[in-house]
Amino acid sequence: MSGNITFTMIKPDAVKNGHIGAILKHINDGGFKIIAMKYSKLSAEKAGEFYAVHKERPFYGELVEFMSSGPIVAAVLQKDNAVDDFRKLIGATNPSEAETGTIRALYATSIGKNAVHGSDSDENAQIEAHFHFSNTEMFV
Ligand code: GDP
Repeated sequence: MSGNITFTMIKPDAVKNGHIGAILKHINDGGFKIIAMKYSKLSAEKAGEFYAVHKERPFYGELVEFMSSGPIVAAVLQKDNAVDDFRKLIGATNPSEAETGTIRALYATSIGKNAVHGSDSDENAQIEAHFHFSNTEMFV
């Protein structure tokens, strides 16, 4: 499975602003197959664990608070070159730098509240997918 999956979350801002359907359409139109999906809410503890790599960054507290502030949609997506292709579909971290037509350019409101997560490597895609889903919840 390595190399052809990525993990995403539709973040609390995009859920709250009613963009779940539109973002899933971008994902489908981008040629990704949804092999796992969950509408859920992260506890502050779980959000802190998920973003532990950013623990020393000044925005860590804000990030954890935001990511546990409301429901999210977590999903595992399958496609050749999934990680890189999904990063292209979502655009740069800061929506003001994201290419026109990308999910973040369309739906993000700030560098923190940036609508979606996308794994940054094949290794992290595996770790993040298994953080949210068991093997019996993924349908390859
Ligand atoms: P990503 O891989 O594009 O999601 O970006 P990073 O891995 O660098 O950062 C993870 C997440 O932390 C981003 O998606 C943002 O939600 C958040 N973040 C990054 N930089 C900042 C910042 O300067 N301020 C705030 N508030 N949040 C940030």
